[in-house]
Amino acid sequence: QAARPSPRKASTMEIAGQRLTHPDRELWPGISKGALARYWETMAAVALPGIAGRPLALLRCPDGISGEHFFQKHAGRGQPDTIVEGAFDDAPYLAIEGVAGLIGCAQIAAIELHSWGSTLDDPGHPDRLVFDLDPGEGVAMAAIAEAARLLRERLEQAGLAAFCRSSGGKGLHVVVPLRPEAGWDAARAWSRAFAEALAKEFPDRFVAATRKDIRRGRILIDWLRNGLGSTAIASFSPRARDGACVAMPLAWRSVTARLDPSTYTLETVPGRVLRKSWIDPWAGFADAARPLPVKRDRR
Ligand code: ATP
Ligand code: MN
Ligand code: MN
Repeated sequence: QAARPSPRKASTMEIAGQRLTHPDRELWPGISKGALARYWETMAAVALPGIAGRPLALLRCPDGISGEHFFQKHAGRGQPDTIVEGAFDDAPYLAIEGVAGLIGCAQIAAIELHSWGSTLDDPGHPDRLVFDLDPGEGVAMAAIAEAARLLRERLEQAGLAAFCRSSGGKGLHVVVPLRPEAGWDAARAWSRAFAEALAKEFPDRFVAATRKDIRRGRILIDWLRNGLGSTAIASFSPRARDGACVAMPLAWRSVTARLDPSTYTLETVPGRVLRKSWIDPWAGFADAARPLPVKRDRR
């Protein structure tokens, strides 16, 4: 058998003590795998609280954002040992602990990190709910922002706190910190009832069912993120979409018609967050956790 030509020595770099192969490989036009790893190294301190110690699903794009994408919830061949696998109630997941795991994600071109609404310590009891606002065609940012504020008002009336982030895509997420006491079935039922009540009250603004054809001009309040094994994009995760936008935690005062989520990108966000004047808009998130409200009796 003829000897195969010896492969060219692959270029590697070390970042945060982790080996990164092919750092020059392009993931987005003009943005390399090395740049993704450096992003996570810079962002680790602010991003890890929402990512470490939580079940994750990873969206991998080995050939960049225009190549094949796949969600991964099981350990793969040759995967860095900084990414571990587990399962709860038959639902598989991956997890990382620290910055080394973030670099491990970059190493396997896992561009998007999606997390469960619960932690590894207590996967059966959600510590956050996500209301994923998915605008239909022709819905302006003014209406999306107004919708997010309305959800906040209603959640506060129910005794819950609400925080907002851009998804890095078209919509916003309204995220509710919970004391992890209720189980997933109760959380899901509560979320569904909350979304359906709003859709009933404002039928020309909201829908609560995922059928695409009824969404035009309205906003889907996607409550289905709130189930065992369901995920939502993690704050600060980049998206495998044009522009390398990231999911960005927002202060409520910036949730207005003038909000432009496309300005939060892998290239712009580290500079903002490193600025001395930056205040984490989600700083009070954990302290604001309340128990899931008990369903009121219909009398
Ligand atoms: P946008 O603002 O554009 O809607 P988004 O992140 O909210 O961005 P959605 O399409 O609304 O995107 O999806 C919500 C979430 O559903 C995703 O962030 C992801 O966590 C989860 N999801 C979607 N498809 C899959 C899948 N095939 N496997 C696992 N999770 C998925
Ligand atoms: Mn969405
Ligand atoms: Mn959705």
